[in-house]
Amino acid sequence: MTEENSYEDFLPYACQSLDEKDIAAVTEVLKGDWLTTGPKINEFEQAVADYCGAEYAVAVSSGTAALHAACFAAGIGEEDEVITTPLTFAATANSVLYCGGKPVFADVDPQTYNLSPGAVREKVNENTKAVIPVDYTGQPVNMDAINEIAAENDLVVIEDACHAIGAEYKGQKVGSLADMAVFSFHPVKHITSGEGGMVLTDNEEYYKKLKQFRTHGITKAEEEFTGDSHGPWFYEQQFLGYNYRMTDIQAALGLSQLNKLDQFIARRREIVREYNRAFSDMDEIITPYQHPDTDSSWHLYVIQVKVDRKEMFNCLLEHNIGANVHYIPVYYHPYYLNQGYEKGICPEAEKIYNKIITLPLFPAIKDEDVERVIETVKKCLQT
Ligand SMILES: *Cc1c(COP(=O)(O)O)cnc(C)c1O
Repeated sequence: MTEENSYEDFLPYACQSLDEKDIAAVTEVLKGDWLTTGPKINEFEQAVADYCGAEYAVAVSSGTAALHAACFAAGIGEEDEVITTPLTFAATANSVLYCGGKPVFADVDPQTYNLSPGAVREKVNENTKAVIPVDYTGQPVNMDAINEIAAENDLVVIEDACHAIGAEYKGQKVGSLADMAVFSFHPVKHITSGEGGMVLTDNEEYYKKLKQFRTHGITKAEEEFTGDSHGPWFYEQQFLGYNYRMTDIQAALGLSQLNKLDQFIARRREIVREYNRAFSDMDEIITPYQHPDTDSSWHLYVIQVKVDRKEMFNCLLEHNIGANVHYIPVYYHPYYLNQGYEKGICPEAEKIYNKIITLPLFPAIKDEDVERVIETVKKCLQT
């Protein structure tokens, strides 16, 4: 730390916002009868489904579990290829591997950094089963184009909307635009349940599979049994599922947080306006492009810098600004390289990766900290 550095606290790039109401909601569950598989789960699912305009919602233990469940419900298995973006958290592609399928990385659009429909089209072949676009930073992907490719080629669309709860595409909320949409309630995301995730769908068949998948593949519904019931205690395990259940403790927190989602998003948009105002006329910075069809809910604020990224990044860290990089292209990881993926397959994504920095963005950030980020970015650019 340098002497001129007067900042005492490290400013993280993301942080949850909890209040007394959240704490009271959790306490209420702890005093009640149901810690898991209780009424709060249904309440939370219904509330998120209603908010997003989707028919069904299934709460699970994490966003990753939600992606895994969605891949399972989509029927992904051995030999199946699933097209996704390299600019995402590894969980997106990992969920395909969990099912025995093969992630195929298509390149991103140089403006939005979202999966490019043209690149997706080039990767489609007879083994392609699904496509998992990510609403990167909270800006919805070009859903019309993705859905059109999917319809032409009989693909399932699983929207990884972990960044994008509350975002809109052509005036419609994310969550009802794809065959299935997935949310995460990790503390860095818009609303949190500690850990948690959800899959939204309008398809009843997917809904039933998702619910069964989160609890070992077991059903207690007699009309679904493949054989005779032995009595009221009976249940059947019909496929290999997992314990991916969310607790009522988590659901109560998520539900309480959901009440504040619109407020959180409004504050995020306010901060983004400040950043854009400060950076948009600076030659060294490319601010995040927004397509007119979209209204981002702004999980992340990602700039491209035309200076040396590592120096810039280190300078921000030295000034206690919690910068980050979203993301290292998934196939750069040793696990993926060992599976035969090669660097260079998505040049746009790689070019973007080399230049991006995520700046702090979360509802509880103080105005003076937003100013501090802006001042520090400007200062770091001059060194
Ligand atoms: C956070 C995130 C996930 C994983 O969610 P978890 O709740 O952490 O398991 C998956 N995909 C994207 C794009 C994410 O941002």
